[in-house]
Amino acid sequence: MDPANDPEDSGTFADLALRPELVAVLSDLGYEEPTPIQRAAIPPLLEGRDLVGQAATGTGKTAAFALPMLHQLPTGDRGRSPSGLVLAPTRELAVQVAEAVSRYGTTLGARVLAVYGGQPITPQLKVLQRGVDVVVGTPGRVLDHLHRGSLKLDQLKVVVLDEADEMFDMGFAEELDAILAALPDKRQTVLFSATMPPKIAKMARKHQTDPVQIAVKGEKAPAGEAPKVSQTGHIVMRVDKPAALARVLDIHQPSSALVFCRTREEVDSLTEALKTRGYRAEPLHGGMSQEQRDRVMNRLRNQTADLLVATDVAARGLDVDHLTHVVNYNVPAAPESYVHRIGRVGRAGREGVAITLAEPRERRMLEAIEHLTGTKITFSKVPSLADLMASRLAVTRAALVEVLEGGDITGVQPMVTDLLASYSPEQLALAAAALAHRAQAPADDGDIPDASHRPPRALRDDAPRTSTPGTTKHTGPAGIGSGSRGGAHQRTGPPERKPAKEGMAKLYIGAGRAASVRPQDLVGAIAGESHLTGKQIGSIEITERFSLVEVPESEIDAVIKALRSSVIKGRKAIIRRDRDT
Ligand code: AMP
Repeated sequence: MDPANDPEDSGTFADLALRPELVAVLSDLGYEEPTPIQRAAIPPLLEGRDLVGQAATGTGKTAAFALPMLHQLPTGDRGRSPSGLVLAPTRELAVQVAEAVSRYGTTLGARVLAVYGGQPITPQLKVLQRGVDVVVGTPGRVLDHLHRGSLKLDQLKVVVLDEADEMFDMGFAEELDAILAALPDKRQTVLFSATMPPKIAKMARKHQTDPVQIAVKGEKAPAGEAPKVSQTGHIVMRVDKPAALARVLDIHQPSSALVFCRTREEVDSLTEALKTRGYRAEPLHGGMSQEQRDRVMNRLRNQTADLLVATDVAARGLDVDHLTHVVNYNVPAAPESYVHRIGRVGRAGREGVAITLAEPRERRMLEAIEHLTGTKITFSKVPSLADLMASRLAVTRAALVEVLEGGDITGVQPMVTDLLASYSPEQLALAAAALAHRAQAPADDGDIPDASHRPPRALRDDAPRTSTPGTTKHTGPAGIGSGSRGGAHQRTGPPERKPAKEGMAKLYIGAGRAASVRPQDLVGAIAGESHLTGKQIGSIEITERFSLVEVPESEIDAVIKALRSSVIKGRKAIIRRDRDT
């Protein structure tokens, strides 16, 4: 089997001979082991080989090229010109990749800049002047910088074309050729693409030397191997995932379920979030001692816990036969992992249920999974609150019958007699049943928007057909995710980082979407800890890693003081005045 296709072929990041600084970051991020594409791509990339990788979003391909790129950064003075360049089709992807490279490069002090159209060029020029190690950009804007002379690529060692097929589809072929022609001959050229049409192969032949070819793609599972499992899923935006998971759990009411996450961090924060919502969830990951793991497993076996939130690695040796549901909180990094995950239920001829929560950008991975398993995952909208309440009628009924059959009715008799003077027994029964039913309502997340019709990438403003290099409209700086009060899930690209309104100042809170922070959590924490009222709080922006909240300038110091000792979503977060607005 191709090493890129064997999820059980374990090995650690340390085995890949990456710099210890990088291994430390990955451990901090809670990555337990390399994904198949990382296992296959990192060694040849560390040797300096050119590479063509067929991998879609969700496979961990960003780290597969970013880690070797960071590994080669000189230890001493790094000068001003970048040694790494990543070309990406959209501004959204450029920002995401830049954030990832910067995250992986923290301990190395990597200087990373995202450049894309629709963003003022002056801040980019300033950063380039100061010096950067890695530039991540859309082809139009990178070429623009090359023409201006603001981006010098004479020191470049590695260039990566990420999502090459999309760049072609968006008409960037000429820009790519022009950029590649401007690079030093002696360099490493890496190309990642979800599909490999002939034009990509041609481009690889033209610009690469003897590239290593790797692919994460499915081989058909042998007949009879697939367990009897109903496979369904929901496509939702990342910010809606916690609420979608809660809805799924409320509807299915699994007696024993395994929820799969990618990282230790995600396992811990999701377990906390589930516990806060009242679920009996326990974490299981490779960072736990054997004793802790045994304790968790016992809770699941004796049914004092009904949800196990686990990484793939930790769940591998798991032996629980009464599991009824598997929930993929995100799409696994390799199609084979999906088969392993869902194989945890539906054993011994029993029917199992597998539910996958996917983001729009992960559709290609889903196609690969369907291809491998030879089955179709049925996608639908997340059940609405009304659906949930309808499915709960049986629970309400059972609760009413329990009281009718001898439950405690002390204290209500005089009130009922009094009400029967004005209402019929039937009216009274209906009202009481409605009240009992309403009490079954879960936390009100409202209805969760279906994202199945959203394009995989929302912002394509750097496409050459719509903007000419150098004449693009400028709107905002790099690297900021999005989110706004009451509509955090509506936008997917980087918003402008606007200055605070007059009389207001921006508060920086070091927790964002990754920690499942929602606008109401921020309002709740601020209003709860300080003397501000909800009305005094201005606009709220929630990005992946942090949030910005507008508060009255005259109150900001008091609010910071009040919030310092508080926790947001179960964590202590950095709270300070925002430096960038
Ligand atoms: P990508 O395919 O590069 O977009 O990565 C998909 C997601 O997987 C990102 O959220 C990464 O942070 C995460 N990821 C990448 N590599 C690993 C790993 N080895 N273990 C766990 N998560 C990972």
